[in-house]
Amino acid sequence: MQTSAAAAARIIAGDSANSGAMTHAWIFTGPPGSGRSVAARAFAAALQCATGTGCGHCHGCHTTLTGTHADVRLVVPEGLSIGVGEMRALVLRAGSAPSGGRWQIVIIEDADRLTEAAGNALLKAVEEPPPRTVFLLCTPSTHPDDISVTIRSRCRVVPLRQPAADAVATVLVRRDGVAPDVAAWAAAAAQGHVGRAKRLATDAQARARREAVLAVPRRLTGVGAAFDAASAFIEAAEAEAADANTESDATERADLERALGAGGTGRGAAGAIRGAAGQLKDLERRQKSRATRAQRDALDRALVDLAGFYRDVLTKGVGAPVAPVHNDVLPMAEAAAQKWTPEATLRRLEAVLACRTAIDANVKPRIAVEAMMLTLWRG
Ligand SMILES: [Zn+2]
Repeated sequence: MQTSAAAAARIIAGDSANSGAMTHAWIFTGPPGSGRSVAARAFAAALQCATGTGCGHCHGCHTTLTGTHADVRLVVPEGLSIGVGEMRALVLRAGSAPSGGRWQIVIIEDADRLTEAAGNALLKAVEEPPPRTVFLLCTPSTHPDDISVTIRSRCRVVPLRQPAADAVATVLVRRDGVAPDVAAWAAAAAQGHVGRAKRLATDAQARARREAVLAVPRRLTGVGAAFDAASAFIEAAEAEAADANTESDATERADLERALGAGGTGRGAAGAIRGAAGQLKDLERRQKSRATRAQRDALDRALVDLAGFYRDVLTKGVGAPVAPVHNDVLPMAEAAAQKWTPEATLRRLEAVLACRTAIDANVKPRIAVEAMMLTLWRG
């Protein structure tokens, strides 16, 4: 993955060198797990490389890839959106001349989460780019829902494809030292998502959560069971998100309180406390946004696993000659394929996908999941 992305970056960098004029704004698109941000980082390294090739070894390459290059700024949104304040500050910094490198580079991961105002702030910079500044945006697609048409029209697009399961398995074996049989299983179960495959291969909790999700179809024996399953589904996502964030929330708060001099007395302390209240509120707001995001991500992972199961039932039902996603629960999928018509299976699969879409469109997760579970039960 890393190497193929680097190779792609070298080709792009070479291409732009040959054509003479550098493009100042690029969009890397591809489904989750396709390596958008890895490719963008590799490209940034190639731009900062001492030899101009993206060698991976020189100071410019190394510092870019490890995130310490002074002229490469990486924006990784933690919350649901990237706000206008953050974007204005970035655009301002990006406008300065590179301090040591050849370019001033801004990489924006999940650029589909720019708020409209933030998008407008970025658009101004992309329309009249400072001479040595390059913007690298990562989005799932160039659909107007993901990136505004005006920004898109100013960018060169680099589309990435989702890697095949055996390519993902090879990465896990070579890069992470995973046993080949575990790697093959995890790559198939992760449906082409490299990061997810690694987590399944190396994290027992992630495996346990997946097993709980795949037990859902068996548990749907009536209306009551459907609502119980919906509750369990939501609560599991909440617990997973809490696990991921509780520690960092507490650390951030303690750090901020220390920085603000909590417990201090004397002149100016009262004024400092008033300012501190605002900053703490701001931190709480950001943490809440991050928690919502983490819950949605956890839910989405569970829904993708569930969709994989119904997809397996469907391919078994119609006898399609394709490899199953969830090899380890194949007997269950085969049994379901005997029981349900392909049409009923398809309705179930569509219910899972509709639930994803609804949550994405801000429908309350519990309502969307309950509706889905009822369809999964009834068919
Ligand atoms: Zn280099």
